[in-house]
Amino acid sequence: MATPQLELSGQLPPKDPSDGEAFSKWYITAIRRSELADYFEPVGGTMVIRPYGFSLWENMQAALDRRFKATGHKNAYFPLFVPESFLAREAKHVEGFAPEVAWVTNAGGEDLQERLAIRPTSETIFGHFYSKWIQSWRDLPVLINQWANIVRWEKRTVFFLRTTEFLWQEGHTAHRTADEAQQETMRMLGVYADFAENELALPVVRGEKSAAERFAGADATYSIEALMPDGKALQSGTSHFLGQNFARAFDIDFLDQDGQRKLVWTTSWGMSTRILGGMLMCHGDNGGLILPPRVAPTQVIVVPIPARSEDDQTRVAEAVSSLLAGLIDAGIRAEADWTDKRPGWKFNEWELKGVPLRIEVGPRDLQQEQVVLVRRDERAKESVSLSAAPRRAADLLTSVQQALFERARAFVTANTHTADDYATFKRIMQEQRGFLRAYWCGADECEGRIKEETRATIRVIPEDAEADGPGRCISDGQPATKRALFAQSY
Ligand SMILES: [Zn+2]
Repeated sequence: MATPQLELSGQLPPKDPSDGEAFSKWYITAIRRSELADYFEPVGGTMVIRPYGFSLWENMQAALDRRFKATGHKNAYFPLFVPESFLAREAKHVEGFAPEVAWVTNAGGEDLQERLAIRPTSETIFGHFYSKWIQSWRDLPVLINQWANIVRWEKRTVFFLRTTEFLWQEGHTAHRTADEAQQETMRMLGVYADFAENELALPVVRGEKSAAERFAGADATYSIEALMPDGKALQSGTSHFLGQNFARAFDIDFLDQDGQRKLVWTTSWGMSTRILGGMLMCHGDNGGLILPPRVAPTQVIVVPIPARSEDDQTRVAEAVSSLLAGLIDAGIRAEADWTDKRPGWKFNEWELKGVPLRIEVGPRDLQQEQVVLVRRDERAKESVSLSAAPRRAADLLTSVQQALFERARAFVTANTHTADDYATFKRIMQEQRGFLRAYWCGADECEGRIKEETRATIRVIPEDAEADGPGRCISDGQPATKRALFAQSY
């Protein structure tokens, strides 16, 4: 890891995904210099999200929240502390989370009789309340989401991707039938994929996790997986079919229409600030970050070019304010940079921060009633009349959003390989990485051996896993019906 001093001065290191150390230095430096986030050294694993980063998160949050509401969910807030006895009620759940839980053992100057976990996830607390609130089939389904912070202990910090405390949302739903719960699980996986692709310009593969990668306490776990520029996968959102495991552990039963008492079927699903990191890693370049217009805190930065005469200076100022008014009228998040710095310095700074579009307003262009538009992704420049600029800006923002997605999708296509023998599999994982489609017989042993020897895990069993017909397991040659999607991962 680079030292903080190096990250905050001098040139931004180039974005070179083929060199792991350089790539991580680019990522960390771009985030710190653009003022998205900072380390909190006194507590390892934690970070602060600065106002620019938090605005970005708020835009993402709003886009996701709209989708949750549109699918019938309501928000609520549940407690931060989870009694140890709660976690212990679902055996696999407690076993899965034990290594990363932080405990409160003393409070108000006294040792607690029962220690309290700082929530690593909230299935148990929701379960406790659902058993009180759900009595009859008329109470179902219950569709609740909460926006909250979570603690899962980490020794290393990688901004957004790996932090001890992070922000997320967790949906927890209860249903009358297994079918309904399964449909909910898939619906929310679809919401995540739609959000990632259409808001963040991040193409994802969706599918089911293998048993070894399943959420602790789930019957089935599904995820969306994005591919980072260094060829490693990032799990970017998960949706779990919990069967009746938590219903059994917390006695969540109801009186059904047929007069029988039955256990409910539950789901949970979560997406965190981690996907924000994936988005930054995916879209930036040597100049810094590139933010997708739909979530960028500032979509257009207007940079006034200083003029020699006072008359010209006034004309620039007037053009900038009329332009800003026009942009805001067009529904664009725009601001002007009036700071006392050279234009070239400002250009670099706003490029580093990833603002998708820049408009330069200078005395010479204004003589022709024109301004200059520069898109961040291709750095292409064009002159447009002052009056047409807001409309053109809106078009260019749409086009930047599209171009970022297309570029990312082309990268995934180019870096998705197929291997039919283990030697090829190993060579690809060593030399190129990326997504690797290979037959897997379903045995844990094969999955474990591949992980040990290549550091690749099954990211998902994708929806098109059976498209190539039957084959032979890459590891032991046993008959296999599906190609799993393997990758090294963050
Ligand atoms: Zn096998």
